[in-house]
Amino acid sequence: MVAATDPDVRLEVIENVRRFVAREVIPVASEMEHGDVYPESIVEQMKAMGLFGITIPEEHGGLGLDLLTYIGVVEELAYGWMSLSGVVNTHTIAAIIIASSGSDEQRARWLPQLASGERRGCLSLSESDAGSDTRNVACRAERDGDEWAINGTKMWVTNGERAGLVALAARSPEGISCFIVEKDPGPQFGGITVSRNIGKLGYKGIETVEMVYADHRIPADALVGEPGRGLGYILSALEVGRINIAARAVGVARAAFDAAIDYAQQRHTMGRPIAEHQAIQIKLADMATKLEAARLLTRHAAERRQAGERADVEAGMAKLFASEAAFEIATDALRVHGGVGYSTELPVERYYRDAPLMLIGEGTNEIQRLVIARGLLARRSGAGPRQ
Ligand SMILES: Cc1cc2nc3c(=O)[nH]c(=O)nc-3n(C[C@H](O)[C@H](O)[C@H](O)COP(=O)(O)OP(=O)(O)OC[C@H]3O[C@@H](n4cnc5c(N)ncnc54)[C@H](O)[C@@H]3O)c2cc1C
Repeated sequence: MVAATDPDVRLEVIENVRRFVAREVIPVASEMEHGDVYPESIVEQMKAMGLFGITIPEEHGGLGLDLLTYIGVVEELAYGWMSLSGVVNTHTIAAIIIASSGSDEQRARWLPQLASGERRGCLSLSESDAGSDTRNVACRAERDGDEWAINGTKMWVTNGERAGLVALAARSPEGISCFIVEKDPGPQFGGITVSRNIGKLGYKGIETVEMVYADHRIPADALVGEPGRGLGYILSALEVGRINIAARAVGVARAAFDAAIDYAQQRHTMGRPIAEHQAIQIKLADMATKLEAARLLTRHAAERRQAGERADVEAGMAKLFASEAAFEIATDALRVHGGVGYSTELPVERYYRDAPLMLIGEGTNEIQRLVIARGLLARRSGAGPRQ
């Protein structure tokens, strides 16, 4: 865990990202999104700014900044284009798994490559029959001398094709284990094939793929921690994933709200700006209130995790509330815009298509409620274990 960042440094980093997003992202985001174009040059600039190593300790080449800085950066990226926050999310989760559960040797080998963005990371937990049901992972890892043989099909691997390191959940004889699989970016590497690029409603520009492992060999030391304990390592890192989803929901919601309040002041009906109609004012008030509550819950979850306290309940609450808020605010922003909100000429329709992902990713909101309730009950009974 990196130390808390000086508040002035935190503000400066977030402000820099805000300026970068205004200059480089907002002018091109909708066009690239409509074309499903990977934002190569934007990602290169993110690399140069160190955004792939925000939370990675400085001793391993990262910026060593705290989670509050991270959520500020994620909010700004998502404000411009939600997909950019997805580029750093599973990358950061992979880095957290290595930093928290890997050996000294694994940290020294992989964290500097992730920090510089030289290798991009991804998380490969889900399968077609193991989404909410994480314990149903069927991809197999079998020990064969100095190697593990991996066989199976993984689904929904965001960043999977461009990644150079995969944090993989696979079933070994001891249970679900976590491995770091090195690969070259591209559709084929050793026994790994990117078999499908999944078409999506939104979250375009970055790939979410199906990956097949056919007797793919990895060295024995690719195993993270102890065999059979991989799901625990991944779920712990997913707390940060959920905080990321909450922060990106805040970013999308803020963009939708800003668009709505600006438009409400420009658009006139019945001889006055629609912002003067009470029905619109009520919408704007509700949107702003939800946005503020979402931001505060997200900040609270990040503060707890940053302080080293258990944050499963808080991360779940932030993800649940912020994603529902973003979904509602994006819908209301579209309604405030009337017909033009439905057109592809304004980014409001993009917010409306991007927002639902956050209800689903990193555990659906139905599952978040289970996580929250179980966590609350465990705290009451003094028990400690995660779900
Ligand atoms: C665009 C996108 C990107 C993704 N990226 C990644 C990634 O990078 N890495 C990765 O590992 N995964 C990724 N995922 C997978 C994501 O985490 C899963 O889709 C999600 O956890 C839901 O699993 P599922 O799709 O199998 O739905 P299911 O588990 O089949 O759920 C279907 C419905 O049933 C509900 N449900 C299921 N079980 C329960 C229960 N016990 N109680 C109440 N309701 C329940 C769900 O809430 C949902 O409404 C991604 C998904 C998407 C859509």
